[in-house]
Amino acid sequence: MERVDSLAEGLSAVLAGKRLAFEHIYSLPGSEGERWYRMKVLTMSDNSGRVVVSHELITALKRAEAALRTAAYTDHLTGLNNRRVLSEAAERHLANAHRHQLPLSVMMLDCDHFKQINDTFGHAGGDEVLRSLAQVMRDTSRTGDILARFGGEEFVAVLPHTTSEGAAALAERLRQAGEHALTPHEGSHITFTVSIGVASLQPGMSFGELLKHADDALYRAKANGRNRVAT
Ligand code: GH3
Ligand code: MG
Ligand code: MG
Repeated sequence: MERVDSLAEGLSAVLAGKRLAFEHIYSLPGSEGERWYRMKVLTMSDNSGRVVVSHELITALKRAEAALRTAAYTDHLTGLNNRRVLSEAAERHLANAHRHQLPLSVMMLDCDHFKQINDTFGHAGGDEVLRSLAQVMRDTSRTGDILARFGGEEFVAVLPHTTSEGAAALAERLRQAGEHALTPHEGSHITFTVSIGVASLQPGMSFGELLKHADDALYRAKANGRNRVAT
């Protein structure tokens, strides 16, 4: 059967008897967002040359598909990228930075005394803090930065085209914004601080090695008293 690309081609192919059936998915604007339909054109079996056209509403199916796609690359709690997306994007950006000798830096963030936040405000309060930290990261970053939840209360940002000085300045802004963020919780609010390790790409360095440098710097930020940036 020949391949058809457009609605018009498909319809005329069925009408001309060149195809038995044709399917076309389309959407129309609706008051509650787009409404999706699957249109089917089928030849009648009575050889009359007539066709049956049906339009099936498939909005729910389309939304479920979109939600699945989003779930595959997003961290459900914060809406940031998940670890898989982070490493794929980082590999691409590192390859580009190496090829064109461009600066690239990485920040690794860890919430300070997070166990205590959970103990004081409960796990739900802790989750709220993680969501607000993610929002602070979004507010502080530039388009093109890759923000990800690395695990638990650890986050990573890959900063293409960013020198170590630029990354340290960004990390300091982020640290301060975190310190001043008020996370609403049960009629009051929670405050939190973060420690940040910053590392920059050196010739020949892999993403794993770069992360290790950022993690070593994070360890120093913790050891030096937390709520600080280390490079
Ligand atoms: P430090 O300043 O040294 O980082 O202290 P910390 O208490 O943050 O230490 P640690 O990293 O060992 O503790 C992380 C805690 O985060 C432990 C775990 O119970 C909690 N945690 C991990 N994932 C989540 C999550 O998704 N939600 C909440 N609410 N807590 C989480
Ligand atoms: Mg941790
Ligand atoms: Mg921690």
